[in-house]
Amino acid sequence: MKYYSLQQQAPIVTFDEAVIRGIAPDRGLYFPEDIPQLPASFWGDIEHLSHEEIAFTAMKPFVGDTIDDNALREIVADVLSFDFPIVPIENNVATLELFHGPTMAFKDVGARFMARCLGYFLKKRKQTEEVTVLVATSGDTGGAVARGFYKVPGIKVVILYPAGKVSKIQEKQLTTLGHNITAFEVKGTFDDCQAMVKRAFLDTDITNKRQLTSANSINVARWLPQSLYYLFAYKALKKLGKPLVFSVPSGNFGNICAGMVAHFMGMPVQQFVASVNSNTTIPRYMASGVYAPITTVPTISNAMDVSDPSNFVRVLQLFENERNILSKKFTSYSYCDQATRAAMHTLYTKHNYIADPHGAVGYLGLKAYLKDHTEAHGIFLETAHPVKFLPAVEPVVGAFKELPEQIASLMDKEKVALHAGNYMDLKTYLMDV
Ligand SMILES: *Cc1c(COP(=O)(O)O)cnc(C)c1O
Repeated sequence: MKYYSLQQQAPIVTFDEAVIRGIAPDRGLYFPEDIPQLPASFWGDIEHLSHEEIAFTAMKPFVGDTIDDNALREIVADVLSFDFPIVPIENNVATLELFHGPTMAFKDVGARFMARCLGYFLKKRKQTEEVTVLVATSGDTGGAVARGFYKVPGIKVVILYPAGKVSKIQEKQLTTLGHNITAFEVKGTFDDCQAMVKRAFLDTDITNKRQLTSANSINVARWLPQSLYYLFAYKALKKLGKPLVFSVPSGNFGNICAGMVAHFMGMPVQQFVASVNSNTTIPRYMASGVYAPITTVPTISNAMDVSDPSNFVRVLQLFENERNILSKKFTSYSYCDQATRAAMHTLYTKHNYIADPHGAVGYLGLKAYLKDHTEAHGIFLETAHPVKFLPAVEPVVGAFKELPEQIASLMDKEKVALHAGNYMDLKTYLMDV
């Protein structure tokens, strides 16, 4: 498999090159030259395949011969060492829980897969120069990336997060690991963190001195393995014999776009619903055809506070860059915080289910779609454990009596973070270390 830049102004590369670079030299996102079709025997037999077997079969064509088969099998087995349960909520509605990994956010799978691929490539190339993964986070990305890359030889991770704007638990996940993980507490907003990262990537003083890469869903190794969630859901639900609808709480649209990749590989899906918060660029685009991002609105589902989703160009590419073609498989709905809280309340009081704010937005979008499509079976993705968003969840469902093991073990660890008041603080650090 080869990858080309969606800006069309950069050389075509293999998977390893795309992973190491992150973004193409022309600043375009890498995209596979074609979406591989999985054989009829795979779809016919999927309910009898293990998660590892499914993952190996689905990832192999994307990876090509850049990773040998045994190594790829080991990587996927290691990455997928936790559960992906489907929890029934009501008639024809279930949730796919993606938060049983080490940092309790769905980003664990992509971050772990990318970390292991990158580690493998550096070793294979006998590269002695260290690679620095530089990433800005509004909360969940940083924790998953830190944990995924922790102690991977040859890789240093630098994470920027906005001071006072991530939850206490998220901050612990970023700042307590040490070793090859460094956290910068930035005086400012997530956008300020993002701006510093972008500037560093363009700063030749830094890039002449160290190899930088990013670990957000722009990177193909973080983006593509997310298609596995949908394959696992299909494995479990195929026996119902009903059309499936996925509602995905969406921010940068990497997750939902990976689901669409699974569909183009041959998996039957009736509709994808992108459920978003008050950042409404995509539902407005679907209604009007005008792509017009405005200032980002802060919400209680803050991992989706994105007004210009980076992966939407990939979504469009899958559908021939035609909104009319896209709309046959894709719907997008938005919900404000008040509606989100009400959904969390309903899920708790009527269905005894504690959803996090992102999952609750997904539930709302699913219900809206199913209203006119009663024949379908709907799945909304639960992208984070509710404990990661306590300030939004506890007022609705009451205090949590105990913390999950992954979180409890962090709480006594000491926070270690550097401070960045401005870009020069980051630059000085990257030039010196
Ligand atoms: C990152 C994140 C999202 C958004 O996922 P995208 O792939 O960026 O659309 C949704 N929910 C949670 C909890 C997240 O951390």
